[in-house]
Amino acid sequence: MKTDIEIAQEARIKPIEEITKMLTLTKEDWEPYGHYKAKLSDQLLEKLEDRPDGKVILTTSINPTPAGEGKSTVTVGLGQALNKIDKKAIIALREPSLGPTMGLKGGAAGGGYSQVVPMQDINLHFTGDIHAITTANNALSAFIDNHIHQGNELNIDPRRVEWKRVLDLNDRALRNVVVGLGGPVQGMPREDGFNITVASEIMAVLCLAKNMNDLKQRLAKILIGYTYDKEPVTVGQLGYEGALALLLKDAIKPNLVQTLENTPAIIHGGPFANIAHGCNSVVATKIAAKLGDYVVTEAGFGADLGAEKFIDIKTRAGEFEPDAVVIVATIRALKMHGGKDKKDLAEEDLEALKNGMENLKKHMETIEGFGLPYVIAINKFPTDTEEEVNFVHHWCESRNALVSLVDVFAKGGEGGLDLADKVVQVCETEETNLQYVYELEDNLELKIRKIAQKVYGAADIELSPKAKKQLVQYEKLGFGNLPVCMAKTQYSLSDDPTLLGRPKGFTVTIRELRASAGAGFIVVLTGAIMTMPGLPKKPAALNMNVSDDGTITGLF
Ligand code: ADP
Repeated sequence: MKTDIEIAQEARIKPIEEITKMLTLTKEDWEPYGHYKAKLSDQLLEKLEDRPDGKVILTTSINPTPAGEGKSTVTVGLGQALNKIDKKAIIALREPSLGPTMGLKGGAAGGGYSQVVPMQDINLHFTGDIHAITTANNALSAFIDNHIHQGNELNIDPRRVEWKRVLDLNDRALRNVVVGLGGPVQGMPREDGFNITVASEIMAVLCLAKNMNDLKQRLAKILIGYTYDKEPVTVGQLGYEGALALLLKDAIKPNLVQTLENTPAIIHGGPFANIAHGCNSVVATKIAAKLGDYVVTEAGFGADLGAEKFIDIKTRAGEFEPDAVVIVATIRALKMHGGKDKKDLAEEDLEALKNGMENLKKHMETIEGFGLPYVIAINKFPTDTEEEVNFVHHWCESRNALVSLVDVFAKGGEGGLDLADKVVQVCETEETNLQYVYELEDNLELKIRKIAQKVYGAADIELSPKAKKQLVQYEKLGFGNLPVCMAKTQYSLSDDPTLLGRPKGFTVTIRELRASAGAGFIVVLTGAIMTMPGLPKKPAALNMNVSDDGTITGLF
């Protein structure tokens, strides 16, 4: 089998103008960014306002395992398959971060014959949106330090500045730093640190903003820290929301590319799925829904994190509703949830598979709880045996759940025709009855408890003394009506990454809260969450190269 980059290099990719023609866009609706990428106008959504919406399909998965699930691959493959059955489908994906690209093997542009292209651009600097976010984030840091240095009119306590600098790289050496060293003219010394750019609140703000005006209002609400009297200080008080919005004037425009089979794909924004909501931008998803009959989009991690935040945060901010969900699983990952060791996953093991189905079962119940119809997509791997595939089919059928074996990695859209048929079938025949997990009027503690009990299957939550204090403080600051954004391990339904399958009777410990007032949610940390990842011993970057004629190798 060829590598992803080899497949991408051989693709017959169309000039982006042809894709815009397929979408019947006019010259004012887009601008070229090289031959194969375009920026869509930030006025486009408003222009299309009166058009009916296409169906929104959310791709989610079981709890991820190191065995891999292939959510992006299935998302791209399903979009291609829908086009093959003559449905006008558009894909709406997140933009990959350079940190994981250089660090771990595995890009975020799909895989095999279900990729978005030009993948070498998408996986590297793309159209510079992430760099613009880095700049806006760090401009704010510079403005804060300058404010303190120039007399500190707002009385900001340098020890309580919560806003951090960012870089879109995995660089553990920058997690904790001291700035302002070197004497009085170098500023006020204070402890600072770096996050990865996709963890910047500005990324979440960009992804949830409806338009430039909303973006500016959200930027103004960002809480940067506290005064010596412990009063909150916002970007609006500093007066820089205009400059930050200006730095984002192009990043706010969604990016149009295509798949290997020339299906249109809008890639825009890529917030972390733990301390942020893990979905592409609201604007991109809504534009895709206006331009196509079907939009296939994905949310990060498993349904306990990504899908829950998609429903409770993104659809609320964007005022739209999904029509159906695809739950991706692999037989390998299900066996791992059933107790099989990672190194033995190639062996047939029906007992482990049966036990592992419990993880899938919980996510099916969660999606049913959202009031949404779903189809289970089993992403085929060469190691899957006939017995194992049959077992999964019977298991699903006996529970009246629609299931489809997809081979979009090896066959492109052709390998997802059955899934596409089933998705169309549920969209055309099943009613949705969207139910949020919690009401915005619930207090913050109740919201957290409802997620833990309904979505994770926890017995209860336990708040640390710090979290208890913060709950009181945030309710007092008027944040009580915001949605909550859970930062929990993706590997388990619980807050313990080693508890695979479907753990029961556990308590979720709430360690700390953080206000992302601009994004419009309260982050709830259930364990140590890394906001600046480190590199592995042998980073993926070791295999990367570019030859004298510009041919790229090692990009997966
Ligand atoms: P996710 O979105 O769940 O993180 P991806 O779709 O990005 O997963 O896939 C993760 C990795 O696994 C990618 O490198 C992709 O090429 C690979 N992959 C996905 N599906 C398959 C498959 N069916 N067979 C082999 N490799 C696959």
